[in-house]
Formats: sequence, C-alpha cells, structure tokens
Amino acid sequence: MRRKLAAGNWKMNGTSATLTELQALARSYPAATVDVLICPPATLLHRAADAVKGTEITVGGQNCHAAESGAHTGDISAEMLVDAGASSVILGHSERREDHGEQNEDVRAKARTAMDAGLKTIICVGESLEQREAANTLDIIGGQMSGSIPDQSTGENLIVAYEPIWAIGTGKVPTLNEIGEVHDFIRARLERRFGEGVGRSVRLLYGGSVKPSNAADIFAVSNVDGALVGGASLKAQDFSGIIDALQKA
Ligand code: PEP
Repeated sequence: MRRKLAAGNWKMNGTSATLTELQALARSYPAATVDVLICPPATLLHRAADAVKGTEITVGGQNCHAAESGAHTGDISAEMLVDAGASSVILGHSERREDHGEQNEDVRAKARTAMDAGLKTIICVGESLEQREAANTLDIIGGQMSGSIPDQSTGENLIVAYEPIWAIGTGKVPTLNEIGEVHDFIRARLERRFGEGVGRSVRLLYGGSVKPSNAADIFAVSNVDGALVGGASLKAQDFSGIIDALQKA
C-alpha cells in the first residue's frame, strides 16, 4: 500500500511570521493518516523543522546542488538540507527548469546526491500548453522521466509529481481523464524500468491549482497518491482542506 502524501511548496514565499501557519497545521495534525510535507524557503527550514517536531508532519527543501559540497556560492547541498531537518527535497520543478535552465541530466545528478544523503526526492515532470496542444504530452513526460530519474530509485526515495506547467498557479486544471491518463502512463513506465514491485511502490502526486474544492475529485483518480500544492499550501486552512480530502480518499 502506498501511503498518501500531501506536499506543500511555499516557493519564494514566507518569513518568520508565516511559521504560524505551520504551527497551526502541526496543532491540527499531530497524527495524520497521510504523510504531510511542507517545503518552506531554505531560510525557514530549521525553524520549520522545530515547529513540527513531535508530529508526523515533515519539512523539505525546494532544491539542492548536485555536488556534495564545495565552491558553489549561494547554493545548498543535500547534506545541509538533512542537517536543517529536511526529510525530502523537490527537484526539477518547472520553475527551476525555466528560471535556471535546469535540464533533465541536472535533475538526475541532483537526485542522485539527494538520495545518497538519505532524502526522499520529489521529481517533477510536466508539459507546457503548447506541448499538450501538439499532443506531445506523453512523449515529453516519458523523456523527462528517463532523463531525470536515477537508476538507484526505489519506492522509499522516489516520488514523482506530475505538474502540467500550464496548470501551475493559473487556476486551470486538466480534466480528470487527462490526469488519469498521465498518471497511468507514469506508473507503467516506472514498472517497465524498475520492475513491478518498485514501480508500484513509488508515489505519484498531481500538482497544479489543487484547492480544497477540487481535491477530492483529483484524489479519486487512479494512481493519484496525493498532491504537490503551491498557493493553497501557504494558508493552514486551505491546506487542511486538501489534507482532509486526502485522508478521506
Ligand atoms: C507548484 O508550484 O508546485 C504548484 C502546484 O503550484 P499551485 O498549486 O499554486 O498551482
């Protein structure tokens, strides 16, 4: 059985004051029946880890460097994330692919280092609107998966997030059939590459404008094991609506 996961990505949002949202979540879910992960900006990671101590909520990073350490001004290593209390790291988010030109091989190198450091890696894949309209979605996702996911992946250290770029922060969501088609495709690819056991144990998240009002429908789609949530993870009340829907799914 794959344990469901509600993961929040705060992106470049949040200062000390925002930790009250996390404290509220920690009070509401001392023992959730699903995994709950919040990925705040790196500046808050240590304090965020303290805020959720003693609960089942964990915290994670939004990126890490492919090297273990060294002369990389401004970057953060996987070991530093672990040291700050992170359980997980998001890699290959489309905003990093777009803003920083990250290629599949960069994501794969980061994922290897993160897995070696003991982090769970959430590897993001997703098509642009242009690619969807040209009926290239599955080719794009397949290419991103082969290029970004390392060979050492297991159901423990790998989570794949399907995030159509055109759905992120836009309020637009693919149809449930479209979400199901891509999730079934990702599952089949994982089983083919890693064998049925591992392929079936990797959790698959949907991400892109998930809100309390659409979460239950999305969580009913086959092979959707949870969500990666941006905007709606910033407020404890909104994120709680999503966690509650996942607990009922
Ligand atoms: C994201 O950036 O990972 C995301 C899914 O954002 P939003 O939920 O705001 O669309």
